[in-house]
Amino acid sequence: MNPQFLQTPIEYLKGVGPNRADLLKKELGIHTFQDLINLFPNRYIDRTRYYKIKHIQQSNAEIQVVGVIKSFREVAQKRGKRLVATFQDDSGTMELVWFRGQKWIKDSLKLNTPYVVFGKTNWFNGKFSIPHPDIETTEEHKKGLSSGIQPIYPSTEKLSNKGISNRVIGKIVQNLFLETKGNFTETLSPDLVSELQLLSKKEALLNIHFPKSQKLLSKAQMRLKFEELFFIQLQLILKNLIHKSKIKGHTFDKVGTYFNTFFQEHLPFNLTNAQKRVLKEIRSDLGSNAQMNRLLQGDVGSGKTIVGFMSMLMALDNGFQACLMAPTEILSVQHYNGLLKWCKTLNINIKMLTGSTKTSTRKEIHESLENGDLQILIGTHALLEDKVKFKNLGLAIIDEQHRFGVAQRKKLWDKGGPPRSSRREEAIAVRKKYMTARPSTYKLLKELQIENKKHATEAERVLWECLRNKKLGLKFRRQHIIDEFIVDFLCIEKQLIIEVDGGYHKTTEQKEADELRSQILNEIGFKVIRFTNEQVIGDIDNVLGYIQKTLNSLPSGEVGGAYFPPHILVMTATPIPRTLAMSVYGDLDISIIDELPPGRQAIKTVHRYDKNRLNVFRFIRDEIKKGRQVYVVYPLIQESEKMDYKDLMDGYESISRDFPMPDYQISIVHGKMKPADKDYEMQRFAKGETQIMVATTVIEVGVNVPNASVMIIESAERFGLSQLHQLRGRVGRGAEQSYCILMTSYKLSNDSKTRLETMVKTNDGFEIAEVDLKLRGPGDVMGTQQSGVLNLRIADIVKDKDVLQLARHYAKKVLKEDPSLSKEENQSILNTYRALSKYKNIWNYIS
Ligand code: ADP
Ligand code: MG
Repeated sequence: MNPQFLQTPIEYLKGVGPNRADLLKKELGIHTFQDLINLFPNRYIDRTRYYKIKHIQQSNAEIQVVGVIKSFREVAQKRGKRLVATFQDDSGTMELVWFRGQKWIKDSLKLNTPYVVFGKTNWFNGKFSIPHPDIETTEEHKKGLSSGIQPIYPSTEKLSNKGISNRVIGKIVQNLFLETKGNFTETLSPDLVSELQLLSKKEALLNIHFPKSQKLLSKAQMRLKFEELFFIQLQLILKNLIHKSKIKGHTFDKVGTYFNTFFQEHLPFNLTNAQKRVLKEIRSDLGSNAQMNRLLQGDVGSGKTIVGFMSMLMALDNGFQACLMAPTEILSVQHYNGLLKWCKTLNINIKMLTGSTKTSTRKEIHESLENGDLQILIGTHALLEDKVKFKNLGLAIIDEQHRFGVAQRKKLWDKGGPPRSSRREEAIAVRKKYMTARPSTYKLLKELQIENKKHATEAERVLWECLRNKKLGLKFRRQHIIDEFIVDFLCIEKQLIIEVDGGYHKTTEQKEADELRSQILNEIGFKVIRFTNEQVIGDIDNVLGYIQKTLNSLPSGEVGGAYFPPHILVMTATPIPRTLAMSVYGDLDISIIDELPPGRQAIKTVHRYDKNRLNVFRFIRDEIKKGRQVYVVYPLIQESEKMDYKDLMDGYESISRDFPMPDYQISIVHGKMKPADKDYEMQRFAKGETQIMVATTVIEVGVNVPNASVMIIESAERFGLSQLHQLRGRVGRGAEQSYCILMTSYKLSNDSKTRLETMVKTNDGFEIAEVDLKLRGPGDVMGTQQSGVLNLRIADIVKDKDVLQLARHYAKKVLKEDPSLSKEENQSILNTYRALSKYKNIWNYIS
């Protein structure tokens, strides 16, 4: 099958036409034949069974009946009217009901003609009825390619209102198969197909739409899921390899005095095996000449800080600066104080910069950063301000990543300090390398490039006419390969890329992909500007003017040498399940601290209803008597801030009544307070001046008060699992037995119950993350930015974990044996990869 054919717009398919095409595009995103083929059914139903009307017994059952329509009538109702048909077989009568699309129904259905109807039964007014049934003539029913297993396609209300029922979709899919004669090109290699005993692509597509049997259906599903995940993994692995070979970093090859002195003389405790292992992984990254991009996961209290600190020492030993960025002021202070004592013994210059740093101090910090006196800088996002310039930042650590966006990570990336001209030779070599892709992808990019050159768009031709003759005083190239991308126009001297976007760049999906592409190109030192076709054709002078202005603003030539971004270590206490991590962060390396320091007692967690509050208070009193401290946390949900505030204040008052001064001192912290006041209250609690801390979730992240041993979470049903786990992590930091009490009302949804049960059952962050993933789905767990990767057609990251592992394993294997996919047997994989990057930007998967 000519792949071009599958790109035919959907309106050209028999049975579709412009109106239906419009709906299909808007409602289901189906633009081409290809899209329709890839519209996989949501589920299947067994239509081998026919019911007699008199045997219908149950409401809400999916049934299929053969009979004739005897009459139509319209029944007025509160709003509008409904259409009711009396439907009869040889055993009795029932009703078919339509609330919408009545005209279309009445015009297209005939009386006294045998129909097969299918749908969910309803018991109404002493009769069974089927609202909005699937309905087809017995001939149509017989003609269907399908066996008794009928696919149910995704649909929307609008589609069914406009008469595009499941049956209609089935029909046009059938037309498509007739047009293509089921001739679909294999996308996997013969080796893979036979080794894994997969159905061929052709068989799989046929059986996913028209299953011949349950067994073939499962095989078809397996094959298509594998394929989908396989190509995503292939891309991710390639991207990771490219990153490693492309993005150069500073080589920290010395193990120097700072590290050794600290390790041998000042280590406050023995490192756990997990900490040692992770340090080794980091050291090996830092010692190579590729930039490190590592995610360090470890449960709360697992000891990430010291790992971060020792990594900083590696940077310092090699003459570089390091920084650590935390999401809140409180956390920065804590990190600063924690590291300060170690730095003092090692004679390291460390400072802290936050929003509340005084102007004079700020100035000093800026200066000593730029002249290199300052070795370690701790702070909040204040570190990202433009004024903060490092002399030579070698390592940037980000704590608690989920509070920071990708854009912020990118800003740190740019803070490495000015390129060093002493390394000019090396820099030029690196630059040269950027000009070409890795050998493995080079071949296919080359082919694409030739293709692109042949089929330039009108806008591209117009712009090229202007750029080719050095009209702007600089040499441009077109369709140039950089990294794994082909860019439209490139000026090497200024490292400027110009892209001209056709119509399809307007979709959100494509926009996201474009953004990511620009970001990657930025990361390796290029500036990207974009124009649309219309801009170029409509006002070329304006476009040229803009290009000229941009060129003027850029430094010239290769002089100045390469920019090396700092190594980046992201530390997070939010465990991400392995499978998800490997799909979303396939391009980051991951280290895991999966072991807590010795001597920690597991936190005891219980669930109590509000009614038991008195008992809970008694328990608090006992703990305080033993000298412990207690957190009481209230939910904070943006939408109902007022209500939450009231809850918090009511809670505070009732606690104040039961724990009166002067015997008890209570701190309170919430989002409406000024940072300075918050800090003051936090400090009082940290110093032990207050015994109870009443707070909203502002205390969620990282705070360390080892003497606090009880965490009470009010309205616990309103918290997500990862948040509950984070909160619980505030206690259990000292030697004493700690407790977490989850307070709720009696009314609990099933999901809430599961969350609470999980919390009571386990302290293991990864186990909790797995449950969270099952409850919320990958999109929600990862946040919206990342949900693109999870836009899968048929596979499900949670349910198809095993297929994912398999796909990753084989993607690695294939690339290992044939990195350029140039072997004969991998021809179809190569072709698919190429088609994917051509017709549907693969980066869509990796947004
Ligand atoms: P997190 O991973 O949550 O950031 P921290 O780095 O704050 O954890 O460590 C939590 C506590 O455990 C700190 O008081 C730290 O000093 C201590 N700690 C870290 N590693 C060890 C270890 N190997 N043995 C004993 N205590 C440790
Ligand atoms: Mg921490």
